[in-house]
Amino acid sequence: MIKNNITLYDSLSKQKKVFLPISKNVVKIYSCGPTLYRRAHIGNLRGYVFADTLNRLFREAGFKVKHVINLTDVGHLFGDGDTGEDKIEKEAKDTNQNIESLIINLIKVFNSDLEHLNISLKRYNFTRATSYIKEQVSLIERLEKKGFAYKISDGMYFNVQKFKSYGGLAGVSKSIQQEGKRVEINKEKKGPYDFALWKFSKKTENRLQEWSSPWGVGFPGWHTECCAMASSVLGKSIDLHTGGIDLAPTHHNNEIAQQESDTGQVFVNTWMHTEFVALKGAKLSKSDGNIINIDNLIENKIDPVALRYLFLTIHYKTPINYTDESIKAANLSIKELKNYCFYKSSLFFVKKDKQVIEQIKKAVSHDISTPKAIALLWEFLKDDSIKRSTKTKTILEIDKIFGLGLKKKKIKIPNDVFILFKERQKARENQDWKKSDILREKIKVKKFNVVDTSSGTDLFPIID
Ligand code: AMP
Ligand code: ZN
Repeated sequence: MIKNNITLYDSLSKQKKVFLPISKNVVKIYSCGPTLYRRAHIGNLRGYVFADTLNRLFREAGFKVKHVINLTDVGHLFGDGDTGEDKIEKEAKDTNQNIESLIINLIKVFNSDLEHLNISLKRYNFTRATSYIKEQVSLIERLEKKGFAYKISDGMYFNVQKFKSYGGLAGVSKSIQQEGKRVEINKEKKGPYDFALWKFSKKTENRLQEWSSPWGVGFPGWHTECCAMASSVLGKSIDLHTGGIDLAPTHHNNEIAQQESDTGQVFVNTWMHTEFVALKGAKLSKSDGNIINIDNLIENKIDPVALRYLFLTIHYKTPINYTDESIKAANLSIKELKNYCFYKSSLFFVKKDKQVIEQIKKAVSHDISTPKAIALLWEFLKDDSIKRSTKTKTILEIDKIFGLGLKKKKIKIPNDVFILFKERQKARENQDWKKSDILREKIKVKKFNVVDTSSGTDLFPIID
């Protein structure tokens, strides 16, 4: 029973905790989503594959999952602070695009990227920040009333001094040590860590997206957006919040400060942060153009789901160094796994290997230890004493958690292949190994593999 045995590492308490849902059978998850100014790169996608693995684990454990992935379509500024340009405004202006079409097109591409990674869209509630402006304004109004917000010439700010436990997530990333250097000096702010809740449109600037508010025309702060969306859809307190490790020191510390000042309740029970993906040792960056995206994988004849597999082979708290070799190896593994999904006669009466399924689920339940789960799967698949049909049935069950999109496929053996196969069987019976090897090669040319196991000889198609 994995339902009561899920342990997850919480970046806030820096401890592994046994998972206890706030509401009995429902798990509420909020995952920080993409900023819609450029297409997601493979690094960004790691976070969504992780979120989907969590989602799958909870479903398999018997929970109902309410899961939000937000779509940041305004207010995320370059530098992640309060002074840079709005990433989306800048992109629309630089490329001379209508901002709504830019956003809509990027949402379409994002959806398609997720589908290529076998992330089922219907399991998520995708919320656009611009659809929750009213809720964001109300949140700031409440904070103002409670004395947490103040107005200066460029916007409404949150007074961090008023929130005593500010910065609890700091220790999750070494980058916090640099934090002092990163915060911009704005002489009007009451403290260096104070952050914008609402920014006013500049008189000199022709903003493409702006709204009126009780304080002046402008746009919401990035951190305010996530709080308003999380509480509107999921409620005041949620079970899990995920995001990239870079979001912890600023974005997430600021989310906690706002939300808990507003409600007086714990905002998130478990914070989970995914480590970064580097490209051949260098930083992947949407802004620098040093990226690989799903289309680049397809162009290079890599099954996009191989990226999901690659992510599963490395623990989410370990950085990944992405190389051509690592993705090619992952692609070969996917082909091999697909090969295991071919079956000859009905799988109806075939039993799954319950023990290995339990072991694999247990590994994933233990702080999403997918590398261990993948290793257990290969150990099981390489065991010659287990029937091929059992392997097929078991791997399909395990894929409910791995999400590699494995599907059973009935083998159709062409007549000429079958005749060669029968000939080879005869050669083996006559212990004519040479002829048997020649026939194996002839069969291979016809895209079939002959596999001799302790339980007999089998024939499987080769996938390109
Ligand atoms: P963005 O679309 O730029 O707002 O980023 C979306 C998510 O991707 C955020 O949670 C970031 O933390 C995460 N992220 C950005 N760069 C990387 C990277 N190189 N590797 C892993 N995650 C990343
Ligand atoms: Zn967020």
